[in-house]
Amino acid sequence: MQPEGRIHNFGAGPAVLPYEVVQEVSEALPNLSGSGFGLMEVSHRSDTFQAVIDSAIGRVRSLLSVPDDYEVLLLQGGASTQFYMTALNLIGEGGKADYLVSGTWSEKALKEAKRVGDCVAAWDGSDENFRSVPSDGDYSIRADADYVHYTSNNTLFGTQFHHLPDSAGKPRVVDASSDICGVPLDVSEHDLIYAGAQKNLGPSGVTLAILSPWALSRCHDGLPTMLDYRTHAAKGSMFNTPNTFGIFVLDKVLDWVERNGGLEGAVERNRAKASLLYNELDRSDFWRPHAHGGSRSVMNVTWRLSNTELEGDFLNEANDSGLGGLKGHRSVGGIRASMYNGCPIESVETLVGFMRDFESRHG
Ligand SMILES: *Cc1c(COP(=O)(O)O)cnc(C)c1O
Repeated sequence: MQPEGRIHNFGAGPAVLPYEVVQEVSEALPNLSGSGFGLMEVSHRSDTFQAVIDSAIGRVRSLLSVPDDYEVLLLQGGASTQFYMTALNLIGEGGKADYLVSGTWSEKALKEAKRVGDCVAAWDGSDENFRSVPSDGDYSIRADADYVHYTSNNTLFGTQFHHLPDSAGKPRVVDASSDICGVPLDVSEHDLIYAGAQKNLGPSGVTLAILSPWALSRCHDGLPTMLDYRTHAAKGSMFNTPNTFGIFVLDKVLDWVERNGGLEGAVERNRAKASLLYNELDRSDFWRPHAHGGSRSVMNVTWRLSNTELEGDFLNEANDSGLGGLKGHRSVGGIRASMYNGCPIESVETLVGFMRDFESRHG
């Protein structure tokens, strides 16, 4: 049984959070940490909130083994602001950057970067509707590129890099919005990592950015204050009012990850959930998985029904069975199950049970 009439939530983001965390949040709403101030009513300049943000940043550092000389920032504006901000800060005059375009989000990142400098797609998977991510050797990087950008998990198409992409020795910039803290990530192999929180880390409205000393050194004078990473680094992510609520929730989500086996535990659970669902998809021709074998995402699983006319019934009946958020993005259509850290394996077991039943009735 799901607590308090909650559905099995497979939404792509904002996404389901561990129920324990939802309860901790509801307890903090009227009175945060015994301060007498409610969670949404406490000053970001108070010691009470300073302890929250220190804890959140500390947990990011330890869970992801962030090197000591890297900066961890909690910003606003979503990953979408980072599309522009990364290029703006990292590309100097006459600068260039190469992008691995493996889905809609990388297309959007490249579009914004083009406003700043000479940015191009070193690889583009749109011809096959983004069914896979590139292998090393499928692309080449310009000798004078300042960095290489990739999207580690393609939320809409359900594909994911399962290797660190070759960057020809150039700094790597990654949009890790939909798999951060859900799969292994070697921070030291990257110079800039960014992620909206609303998939694996917490609610919407908080954006994690992790910068190497090289990335910080690239920020140049004359940038708009709020778009200059140094502004936020100098003020501990509190140059202006941060998303106090979101940072609190992020801290609690990471606390939950720590209490449940750390990053390793999360990675193991996510692999188990994904193999459960992919095994079902491979069992029968009734289902048509979108992503090609080696590129399958453990976070977002996308598929069609062989008889696409049944997809509406599938979604309606799923909903009636307490399974929500399964409608695929229009770029693929069909079904998408997002299974981030907060999604329990029981939800995936329930989904697979429903799929077998649906097939037996309609197959
Ligand atoms: C959801 C998502 C985004 C967009 O994030 P916003 O916070 O809405 O700007 C960008 N990139 C990826 C990979 C995503 O999954």
